[in-house]
Amino acid sequence: MALLELTNVHTYYGGIHALKGLSMTVNEGEVVTLIGSNGAGKSTTLKTICAQTRAKEGKVIFNGKDITQMRTHDIALAGIAHVPEGRRIFPKLTVRENLEMGAFSVSDKKVIEEGIERAFAYFPRLKERVSQKGGTMSGGEQQMLAIARGLMMKPKILMLDEPSMGLAPILVEQIFEIVTELNKEGMTILLVEQNANQALSVAHRGYVIQTGEIILKDDAQTLLMNPQVREAYLA
Ligand code: ATP
Repeated sequence: MALLELTNVHTYYGGIHALKGLSMTVNEGEVVTLIGSNGAGKSTTLKTICAQTRAKEGKVIFNGKDITQMRTHDIALAGIAHVPEGRRIFPKLTVRENLEMGAFSVSDKKVIEEGIERAFAYFPRLKERVSQKGGTMSGGEQQMLAIARGLMMKPKILMLDEPSMGLAPILVEQIFEIVTELNKEGMTILLVEQNANQALSVAHRGYVIQTGEIILKDDAQTLLMNPQVREAYLA
């Protein structure tokens, strides 16, 4: 079943037509990756889904409901977690405080504590650093914190915007392992990446975006073998 469906979505920044009739679906339980080069519209797609940037035309349906005109806050409450590019954690807050911020709409302390324990189970490194200020953590640790924060509201879908960006190869491996592990436990994931090789290796299906349009979609394995994809994105 389609958990998330974009149909003919057009998004503009002033006069810039950033998404030109984009359609894509993410089914429950899938890892879907959206790959493409710089400026293709990957981040804009995620921002449009959570209405940080509004679609001017087209529809975004989530869990059977039209969310195109909903507010970002309500979209988060509906079950969409967006982990933006560049690990925007709160640098002055501790690991624990950052996680608490992730559960912004939860008032029940017990539920928050359960969420923090869950995060620590996934990311033992964060547990060791619970009182450390976010801004003093390494890039990889900050990315783990950003993902863990996204999970605090028990979302139905996790949207990750270039989680591997700027990380050393070993940490990139770890991040992709986490993606696989989360998915095995049932999390649906929409993964935006420039690192097409690794993204396609962990995804079930993939979409290739170029200047705001989907130019290819297929099973991840098929895209990995596709000469056009190999030449443009796997070189
Ligand atoms: P990258 O991999 O470099 O992050 P991307 O595929 O995520 O690229 P987007 O950030 O979605 O690309 O940008 C798509 C297009 O929209 C680009 O041409 C970009 O310059 C433009 N754009 C993005 N944000 C804005 C903005 N706030 N104002 C004006 N133009 C923007």
